[in-house]
Amino acid sequence: EHQLARIARLDGELNSFITVTAEQALAAADAADAARARGEAGPLTGLPLAIKDLFCTEGVLTTAGSKMLANFVSPYDATVVEKLKAAGTVSLGKVNLDEFAMGSSNENSAFGPVKNPWDTSAVPGGSSGGSAAAVAAGLVPAAMGTDTGGSIRQPAAFCGITGLKPTYGRVSRWGIIAYASSLDQAGPMARTAEDCALLLNAIAGPDPKDSTSVARGVPDYTEELGAPLSGLKIGLPVEYFGDGLDPEVEAAVREAVRVYESLGATVREVSLPHTHYAIPAYYVIAPAEASSNLSRYDGVRFGHRCKAPSDLIDLYKRSRAEGFGEEVQRRILIGTHTLSEGFFDAYYKKAQQVRRLIRQDFLDAFEEVDVLMGPASPTPAFDLGAKKDPVSMYLQDIYTIAVNLAGIPGISVPAGFVGKRPVGLQILGTHFAEARLLNVAHRFQ
Ligand code: GLN
Repeated sequence: EHQLARIARLDGELNSFITVTAEQALAAADAADAARARGEAGPLTGLPLAIKDLFCTEGVLTTAGSKMLANFVSPYDATVVEKLKAAGTVSLGKVNLDEFAMGSSNENSAFGPVKNPWDTSAVPGGSSGGSAAAVAAGLVPAAMGTDTGGSIRQPAAFCGITGLKPTYGRVSRWGIIAYASSLDQAGPMARTAEDCALLLNAIAGPDPKDSTSVARGVPDYTEELGAPLSGLKIGLPVEYFGDGLDPEVEAAVREAVRVYESLGATVREVSLPHTHYAIPAYYVIAPAEASSNLSRYDGVRFGHRCKAPSDLIDLYKRSRAEGFGEEVQRRILIGTHTLSEGFFDAYYKKAQQVRRLIRQDFLDAFEEVDVLMGPASPTPAFDLGAKKDPVSMYLQDIYTIAVNLAGIPGISVPAGFVGKRPVGLQILGTHFAEARLLNVAHRFQ
């Protein structure tokens, strides 16, 4: 009730929620109280949270931030949602995002932009901007996000919270509306690494419904949180401290690294030589996969349908032209082009080869160091409306995108401010090093 009252009072301005499910939440809270009375409460029983509106939720509007799905009520729960329910959490509703998770500012939503609670003239980051803003404003203690190229870590950084993108395959993607299937991964966004660890405990693990989920046991991610950091080897990728990095962001990150040195870590420079190919490779691969995934929105089976189509082709064309926003249409066009005969080898295949080199850069670095540290984003949150051309928006993801191409986990941790706007420290580890990342993040908090 406290959290619902805060949403009612503050979210008119922030616009972080698309749907508030007050009735279902109060019923779930009663069920949690009853479980507690029976002595059956787990660590998350009764925990209020918010779900990015990209996760299918049974009987609840699931829009993906798009006019295309503005009327779509999912008939089933995503595996993550099912697991969170089983853990006794109480969802308060579905939160705003860039349309189909395409964006870095939450300005691409058909439901309007979200504002950054620290400074309402700034964006909250994207695409999980609603999740980040809702946690930062204290509307919920935790939220679920997804990260295809930075969409958990960059909004967590912009909103001064902690956000973890797990290893590709650690968390089931079943029932999460697909953007780029080989890159998408769900993860927790909360105040602290400890909260993220509790949530990861609940959502991680193999799922027979997602063949890309990895058959590997789930440790208790809270167990190693307090482990000492003496002897930890930190690498600072030189490519993450170059041109385009805001000097005040750099100062905050270097200060955080000094804190780790004082905790007994050693620091050295490393190189990820193919870093500058990450954005070009991503903007071939992600739109290619998106164009294929989004072909299912044809106006026939579900979602937006144009009025009075003259024939089938007219139905497809107008339903898609009306239902998809500008950025989504741009990516569908790029993706269908790069996948088309005659261009496939030059673009898509080449990008996949580059992807392999980027992954190898990380694997080589993790031969030398335990974790990598750097900024989550080159600047603090920018002003709403400030980035008009798509390429300047794409450059936002310069430190986050390679991580998805490599499939490794990454976490963004609050590390100070530039004026009123938060800065995020990004910590990266090798595949399935989530427990280590949470430990390293926790010791900083
Ligand atoms: N900003 C990137 C994009 O627009 C990443 C988004 C994401 O991680 N979902 O594609």
